[in-house]
Amino acid sequence: MKVHESDARRIFADRGLPVPPSRVATTPDESATAAGEFGGLVVVKALVLAGGRGKAGGVKLADGPEAAREAAEAILGIEIRGERVRRVLVAPAVDIDREIYLGVTIDRERQSAVVMASAAGGIDIEEVAADTPEAIQRIEFDVARGVEAWQARAVGFALGLGGRQVLDFVGILNGLVRAFVECDASLAEVNPLVVSPDGKLWAIDAKLNIDDNALGRRPELEQLRDDAAEEPAEALARAAGISYIKLDGDIGCMVNGAGLAMATMDVVKHYGGEPANFLDVGGGAGAERVSAALSIILDDPNVRAVFVNIFGGITRADDVAQGVLAARESMPRAVPLVVRLMGTNEAEGLRLLADAGIQAERSMDAAARLAVEAVR
Ligand code: GDP
Ligand code: MN
Repeated sequence: MKVHESDARRIFADRGLPVPPSRVATTPDESATAAGEFGGLVVVKALVLAGGRGKAGGVKLADGPEAAREAAEAILGIEIRGERVRRVLVAPAVDIDREIYLGVTIDRERQSAVVMASAAGGIDIEEVAADTPEAIQRIEFDVARGVEAWQARAVGFALGLGGRQVLDFVGILNGLVRAFVECDASLAEVNPLVVSPDGKLWAIDAKLNIDDNALGRRPELEQLRDDAAEEPAEALARAAGISYIKLDGDIGCMVNGAGLAMATMDVVKHYGGEPANFLDVGGGAGAERVSAALSIILDDPNVRAVFVNIFGGITRADDVAQGVLAARESMPRAVPLVVRLMGTNEAEGLRLLADAGIQAERSMDAAARLAVEAVR
C-alpha cells in the first residue's frame, strides 16, 4: 500500500526528519491562501501515489499567491500515470545546492533490510543503480538493532557531507530507519534530501510503501489508504476477498491457492504464453466470488483467453463450474475459456460445464497448452 506524501511527511517529521511545513489544497484558491500564509517562494506538487511527478509536470515553483493559484490550476485535473490529480501539496520552497538520495528497503537477493544513499539524488535511483551501482552507498542492517552510528557516519562522509551535517545526517538516517521498521514498510524514501546553500539538510519529498501483509496489525496505517488512487481492479478484488495482481500478458488466469496460481503462471510461460495476471480466488470460493474474479480478469483489455485452473479441496468443483457459467452469461466480451477442474465434486462440476458446451480438462499441462494456443 502506497501512502500519500502528506502522510509520509508527517510520519517522517514525527521521527525527527527536517521536513518543511506543508498544506494540502483541493482548489487553486486554497493553494493561493496557503502560499500567502507561507510567504515567499513555494512549491506546488500533485498529491498522487505515482512517483516521477516532477518529470510529468506535477511539481511547480511559484512566487506568491497568484503564481501558486496558476500552478495549482495547471496541476489539478491532469493525469499522472493513469492517476487523476485531485489535490496538491503546497510547501515553502527550499533553495537547493545538492540533491541526495536516501532510502530504506528490503534487498530480497541479500535477504536483508538495507539503507541506500547516493550523492546522485533527485533523479530515478533505478537508473543510478543500473548505470553506476558504485555511486550507491549501502548498509545492510538487522531490523531489531537498526543501523550502527559509525556506519551512518561513514555513509554521511562518503556523500561528501562534513562536520555538523554528518551529525544531522545520522539523525535523519536513524529516523528514516525507525519509520521503515515501525510502519512495516517495504520502502521509506527521501528523494531528494537536499542541502541548502546555508548547509542545512531538508527532506523535501517523502515516499512510504507499507507491506500489505502488515496492515492487520497497523490499523492506523490502513486508515491512510486512498481507494480512489488505487488500480480499480485491485480495489474491486480486495473488496471481494480475491488476491489479484495485474501483469502485462494476454492469458487471464483464475486459480485457487497462491501456490497453484504461481505454478499456473509458470506452466503458461513454459508453453510460450504470457499471463495477464496473478489471481487467487482463495479457499472455499463460491459461485459468486468465481464470477467476480472472471469479470475482474475480463476488465483488462489485454486479456484474449482465460485459463481457469481449479483444484477442489475446500473449494467445490461444482460451485466453481456454476460461477464460471454465471460469469459467462454476463461476460462483457467473448474470449476463449479453457477450464481445468478436478477435486471435490469434480464429476458434478464437469457435467455442469459439459452441459453448457464447455469442455474441461483434467490435466493442468494439457489445459495450459490449449490456453496458449487460444491466443496464438
Ligand atoms: P517526484 O518527481 O515525484 O519525486 O517529486 P519531488 O518532490 O521529488 O520533486 C521533483 C523535483 O522538483 C525535485 O527533485 C527538485 O528538483 C524539484 N523540487 C521539489 N521541491 C522543491 C523545492 O522546494 N525547491 C526547489 N528549488 N526545487 C524543488
Ligand atoms: Mn522525489
